[in-house]
Amino acid sequence: MKGYGPADPLQSPRFAGISTFLRLPHTLHLDGVDVAFVGLPFDTGVTFRAGARFGPKAIREGSLALRPDYNPAQRVAVFERVSAVDYGDASVVPGFTERSYDKMTEVLSVVHESGAVPIGFGGDHSVLLAELRAAAAVHGPLALVQFDSHSDTWDEYFGEKYTHGTVVRRALEEGLLDPARSTLMGMRGGLYGPGDLDDAREMGFTVLPWDDLAQLGTGAAAAAVDRAGGKAFLTFDIDFVDPAYAPGTGTPECGGPTSMQALALLRACRGLEIVGADVVEVLPDLDSSHLTATLAATVAWEILSLIAVAMPESGT
Ligand code: MN
Ligand code: MN
Repeated sequence: MKGYGPADPLQSPRFAGISTFLRLPHTLHLDGVDVAFVGLPFDTGVTFRAGARFGPKAIREGSLALRPDYNPAQRVAVFERVSAVDYGDASVVPGFTERSYDKMTEVLSVVHESGAVPIGFGGDHSVLLAELRAAAAVHGPLALVQFDSHSDTWDEYFGEKYTHGTVVRRALEEGLLDPARSTLMGMRGGLYGPGDLDDAREMGFTVLPWDDLAQLGTGAAAAAVDRAGGKAFLTFDIDFVDPAYAPGTGTPECGGPTSMQALALLRACRGLEIVGADVVEVLPDLDSSHLTATLAATVAWEILSLIAVAMPESGT
């Protein structure tokens, strides 16, 4: 093991102990840490079903089912390459989006300034603005690689500027993103008007609705990596996946990718220079099977694996 890694499941069973993500140590010390998992338990930005504030807890619990040491799809011994910790949750102010943004940005800035990569657990997708403010302050404007059944590029919702449906437009306006290097993938379902996706294209984003992405396959994800061409933020809204596989989410859209297709697309992002990432929109109360949280945990681990394959083996 390079640094921090999971507890040994052959010494104490995976269901035992206090639940941290992947049974990693919970610490606020960032010396020797490459990746810090940070819960963002905020759901005031939702427009339909609420409850994602309990997402981080559920994702940690869901992660216990994983065997995280070796990723056969990427052929990487993950913790030989990365030292990772569970940084706990950012504090938020329920009901108050902008004050919560300040608190989340402050916590995430500490992680970025240490040189570690934060992987956030939502929370609704509005948390992305706090994450990008912290990331761009250190790294400059980033490429966004977004897996989502919605583009989140509306101007306002109910007259409000800060919601989970407007967050990508806000980030662009704040200069946190480079749209020419960004790809939004998976959009589907009914819209309020034909301009909804055209708007995103006019902003300069490459938009791949699910119907197109399904035809293009993993090559489209590899093309998104090429398009990014440098520092990137990977954001994964769990509603990208068909609600048959991820029912516990706020604004489900039928007719999307299976979990297998979604993971294949994510794994094809090999080579992406990830300086920040997240998995959002998990509503555990709507999924008594806990499969949504297990899938979200798997997604976070696959993102960790993408970071691992980009790093040298320890001791070499
Ligand atoms: Mn979203
Ligand atoms: Mn969505």
